[in-house]
Amino acid sequence: MSSGPEVVVWDTTYACPLRCSHCYSESGRRASRQLGHEDMLKVADALISLNPRVVALSGGEPLVVKGIFEVAGRLSRAGVKTAVYTSGWIMEPWMATELARVFDEVVVSLDGATAQVHDRIRGRRGSFDRALSALTLLDGVAKERRRQKRTPLWFGIDCVVVRSNFPQLEEFCTAIAPRFPELRTLTFNAAVPEGLASRPEFGHFELLDDAQVTRLTSEPQRTRLQELAPPGVRVYTTDNQNLVMRPDRFASGVDSLVMQIEPDGAVRALPVYEGTVGNILEESPLDLWYRGVSRLSDPFVVETLSAVRTLQDWAEAVRRMDYHFGSEEVRSRIERRSVRTNPPEFSALAL
Ligand code: SF4
Repeated sequence: MSSGPEVVVWDTTYACPLRCSHCYSESGRRASRQLGHEDMLKVADALISLNPRVVALSGGEPLVVKGIFEVAGRLSRAGVKTAVYTSGWIMEPWMATELARVFDEVVVSLDGATAQVHDRIRGRRGSFDRALSALTLLDGVAKERRRQKRTPLWFGIDCVVVRSNFPQLEEFCTAIAPRFPELRTLTFNAAVPEGLASRPEFGHFELLDDAQVTRLTSEPQRTRLQELAPPGVRVYTTDNQNLVMRPDRFASGVDSLVMQIEPDGAVRALPVYEGTVGNILEESPLDLWYRGVSRLSDPFVVETLSAVRTLQDWAEAVRRMDYHFGSEEVRSRIERRSVRTNPPEFSALAL
């Protein structure tokens, strides 16, 4: 049995100023479930006891969480590598400086190479300009730290690839990346059918088709994007299939389980899928981890996830898993989703 997670993803809040059409956590449309500062430090201590290699602070928007830098500093001082994912919407100069001081990696989400595409996906006009401003601030801090010979700031751009930004991948490399000379990584992630991205209408309008996924992750495509990007930027592409958690792949060691913590300390049995195994503030973190691992042997999980081959299969599996393992609250949230979501969300009329 595994001794503990190598990677932990902690969704620190479900509060968020944006309204992305693919939001995996449905943030901004539900209660934040954010803990108070002391409890957040307790979660950090519980995670430290698991001795993971890296903890990624995500959300929601982690920069709206008061004391987030202290929480990350606690992890960091214990020798845990830390990463943070932000939309950049509320980035201020002092935050960029603190991010560089505390985190090992800072990732800004950018889902379009133009304001028109990014703002439509992100559901808020002006989000493209704000993301670029955040990247400019980080670039300036990175440059200054390099000049002072301090620990370098490692920052990157993460793009969730969907049908409406698929034609822009090269533009990310040729028009966006060169604007930030200190940028280190440019990652193109095929959208995962999780949360709002598991809705059938999202699958119809935005989830990549199989040919697009194959093209995105082909070696010629990655090489082409790498050649177009500035020399200092490393380009990654992924289909995220490792997150399906197909039991056969897990058993043979191809994929490994990530621990995912919800904002109030609830621990998901399996990332991507609804369903928790307890709260890290109330029970032994290692017991919770083992409970999550054992979920992979559940007959319903084995039957549902073993059949996944395509993104559309995966979306169907997520809907089954979420409804099967989700609480009453989760099921009613899923049902409300389908009532209020209309196709115009996926059109230019959304803004
Ligand atoms: S910025 Fe992130 S957390 Fe916020 S709505 Fe978009 S995907 Fe969700």
